[in-house]
Amino acid sequence: MKRSKIKDLLAGVGLGEKVTTMGWVRTFRNDMFIALNDGSTVKNLQCVVKENSGLKLYAGTCIAVTGSLIESQGKGQAYEVLADEVTILGEADPQSYPLQPKEHSLEFLRDIAHLRIRTNLFGAVMRVRSALAQGVHKFFAERGFYYFNAPIITGSDCEGAGEMFCVTSLPHDNAPRTEDGKVDYSKDFFARQTNLTVSGQLEAETYAMALGAVYTFGPTFRAENSHTTRHLAEFWMIEPEVAFADLEENMELAESFIKSVIRYAMDNCGDDIDFLDARYAREENKKTAASRSAMGLKEKLNFILNNDFKRVSYTEAVDILKNSKANKKGKFKYPVEEWGIDLQSEHERYLVEKHFGCPVILYDYPAAIKAFYMRMNDDGRTVRAMDVLFPGIGEIVGGSQREERMDVLMQKIKDLGMDEKTLWWYLDTRRFGSAPHSGFGLGFERLVQFVTGMENIRDVIPFPRYPQSAEF
Ligand code: ATP
Ligand code: MN
Repeated sequence: MKRSKIKDLLAGVGLGEKVTTMGWVRTFRNDMFIALNDGSTVKNLQCVVKENSGLKLYAGTCIAVTGSLIESQGKGQAYEVLADEVTILGEADPQSYPLQPKEHSLEFLRDIAHLRIRTNLFGAVMRVRSALAQGVHKFFAERGFYYFNAPIITGSDCEGAGEMFCVTSLPHDNAPRTEDGKVDYSKDFFARQTNLTVSGQLEAETYAMALGAVYTFGPTFRAENSHTTRHLAEFWMIEPEVAFADLEENMELAESFIKSVIRYAMDNCGDDIDFLDARYAREENKKTAASRSAMGLKEKLNFILNNDFKRVSYTEAVDILKNSKANKKGKFKYPVEEWGIDLQSEHERYLVEKHFGCPVILYDYPAAIKAFYMRMNDDGRTVRAMDVLFPGIGEIVGGSQREERMDVLMQKIKDLGMDEKTLWWYLDTRRFGSAPHSGFGLGFERLVQFVTGMENIRDVIPFPRYPQSAEF
């Protein structure tokens, strides 16, 4: 007999017929009622076995059930299976199986990341994550973008800063040395120093200069020692890069992109989002009234879909912050005194959560605090950068119009003391047929955090990598 998925059975597919379904036992109540889950939905299927069946079923046991799908006599579900036959496919010893039918702490679950996916919560989060990823490809496909795979091992450092993981096959305890005692990377696998990529942007730019519009969606790595709830050492980034687009179009792209993928997840993961919405409400209720979110999870998602993102220049934002009560009363850890400061996440969150009450796109940042490739404005001190700031998350997108003028870009590279030789291939895009273009990077896990309402980024990626942790 062919296997039915629980999602279909719960929708009544096969009503009145003999069906076979397989999954993992969540609970076995009164030696009669099995709550069975197979990952196809957050909801469990109730399977009723005959009294005195002698079955020994525990949380985690994998079984196959054959029986008739009927309208349920009990409350809580529309359909259930009257089991004729239950076969144990894989036992789970109740003494040592770490998941029990009770709520476990997220910290505990992180230590058993290979099993936490068997909880309702992680099932819901990871199904939503999967839907968001599929929504990403759908959005770009509909807009005629090409999916571009940036290299993971790279010889370039996009941001011109440290915090990279070195990739080497040299023996670390006996690496060949140059005369001045440094590691001799010319003897390394690639005959040069290489790293795990922090961003695929520079490579994506070269492709945008031929294919017109491309996007990356792949893993990126940052060896930053941050212990925040928004940083991972390995995370997934989506980076569209578009020829002939200016900053306005870039903002429009970012906003419609985010709305589109959120809508896709809501349309395709309704049950999971209902489940997460209820959980979010319970979690918020544990907080003090002052720190509680004003909106429920679904309310927040709908709010995003139905409202325009507020566009605010950096200069306006600094004025707002400088004159805010919070600043005057010394509520910020980093007081806002003058134009030019790098905004901290407390500032970003103030703007989004307190001042505007909606997502904000900040643009035209001081050149000095942004990357070398961003387009200089005519004022000579700001660049065409944009950050999209979200409630509860802070920065979710960072992007810019790129500097397409070779002379301006070269001057910038010189001023920053960067090595133009290693950037020769990037600079060729400006040498040969340069064009105005723009793009951005969206941290996929931050998006998943927002849509699922999970507070810690470590709980929205299957096997999180962060300082001191790469167990699995
Ligand atoms: P932040 O200030 O939050 O560290 P950033 O300015 O370093 O962000 P970008 O270099 O602009 O971020 O990267 C683009 C996007 O990637 C960010 O908007 C964010 O969504 C995401 N991102 C950046 N660093 C991380 C990280 N360590 N873990 C997860 N996502 C990240
Ligand atoms: Mn950062």
